[in-house]
Amino acid sequence: MRTLAREIDGMELPAIEKLSESQQENAFQILIATLLSARTQDATTLAASTRLFRRARTPRSLARLPVREIERLIYPVSFYRTKAEHVQATADIVATTYGGRVPDRLEDLVRLPGVGRKTATLVMILAFGSQQHICVDTHVHRISNRLGWVETRTPDDTEQALYRNTDARWWPLINLYLVTWGQNVCRPVYPRCGACALAASCPRLGVSTPSRQT
Ligand code: SF4
Repeated sequence: MRTLAREIDGMELPAIEKLSESQQENAFQILIATLLSARTQDATTLAASTRLFRRARTPRSLARLPVREIERLIYPVSFYRTKAEHVQATADIVATTYGGRVPDRLEDLVRLPGVGRKTATLVMILAFGSQQHICVDTHVHRISNRLGWVETRTPDDTEQALYRNTDARWWPLINLYLVTWGQNVCRPVYPRCGACALAASCPRLGVSTPSRQT
């Protein structure tokens, strides 16, 4: 993790990290942007979030927008119709049930429409500064297995294995480091093992086609 911290310095940050920096930890906007980001390119998530928040920034104002308008604003994020419904329903629950404040407990977050464990743990880390959670997405799942930190089949299993196998001081940083590494070096296909600072200690488990380029 220390090597990764050094290596990712200067690399482009994942969209949600950028957004959480620019939103100065506005929990509601981090929640909505994270919800939009599932299976969507970073640039698309950033652009869609910016359009949406320009139109409505608060839970109450977003809950009042018609779903069709939210659809138009967030297009072309993937599953934009379903996500538009989730965004509006989540905004409504935050506005009415939680008095306009995003709940700061994981068990409450995962009950919001469209919010899975990955979104909830990232919101806990980025919006509430949690030191107790690890956010596992496909990058974290894939790279943790390649490095041999875990031996798991699902992101949920990876999360639990990482709690057991890694030092707690790194938990809130694992997502940032491995997502950045996954987007730049340890890519899903053709990982750049020849240019990887972790190569000497990485068993490359499951990697059959490393990139020929460095
Ligand atoms: S050596 Fe290859 S598989 Fe291992 S972390 Fe680096 S890029 Fe990923």
